[in-house]
Amino acid sequence: MNTPALQVGGLTPLTTTDFPGYLAAVVFCQGCPWRCGYCHNPHLIPPDTSAQLGWAEVVAFLKRRTGLLDGVVFSGGEPTLQAGLADAIREVRKLGFRVGLHSASPYPKKLATILPWLDWVGFDVKAPFAEYEAITGVPGSGIKARAGLHALLESGVAYEVRTTVHSDLLGTEALLKIAADLRDLGVQNFILQEFRPQGCTNPGLCAGSSPLTDKLIAQIAPLFNRFEVRRA
Ligand code: SF4
Repeated sequence: MNTPALQVGGLTPLTTTDFPGYLAAVVFCQGCPWRCGYCHNPHLIPPDTSAQLGWAEVVAFLKRRTGLLDGVVFSGGEPTLQAGLADAIREVRKLGFRVGLHSASPYPKKLATILPWLDWVGFDVKAPFAEYEAITGVPGSGIKARAGLHALLESGVAYEVRTTVHSDLLGTEALLKIAADLRDLGVQNFILQEFRPQGCTNPGLCAGSSPLTDKLIAQIAPLFNRFEVRRA
């Protein structure tokens, strides 16, 4: 049986920020099994939509960009949802591009199988692993995230771990717990990114403020070799 082609919900032809150090295109993969209230790409959550790009169109675009772009980032939605991801990654590599992935790891075994094909992973950590369901709406999601992060760290693939900070969802105590969890796993590169309301369709969450005080940042920063705050 043929593997289904990647379902693509959108394409950004050029980014300088989504694949650190490289000029890249972003392929937004359709579908996500989690339901984070602050999701800024909610149109990508359903597994299919009538407004998709064909994978063949994406490949044709990338062929026209060889020599002009360094890499391609698979983002979402959640790319590892799709059976066609591994083939798509291999096809992109054959065209000569570096490959990055954005994932929150709802499918850690699948993530582990594609790690050898990746140059970089932007790994989203949502909450302390024991409290994931409050953000994702899905029981057991923290166990999956932890397993995927462990596989990533074992693989030696370059990465950044990032957590979106929303004052109504993550307070000081939760952020300190996340930092401690990550340090204990051996994470060296951690980024706190303030919630941005663009794309958020939950009115109750759109006005969140940042709980990131100088004192809190001073407590977290020394735990990591590289630490950054991305302001909204
Ligand atoms: S895991 Fe990402 S794509 Fe899925 S619902 Fe949460 S924020 Fe949105």
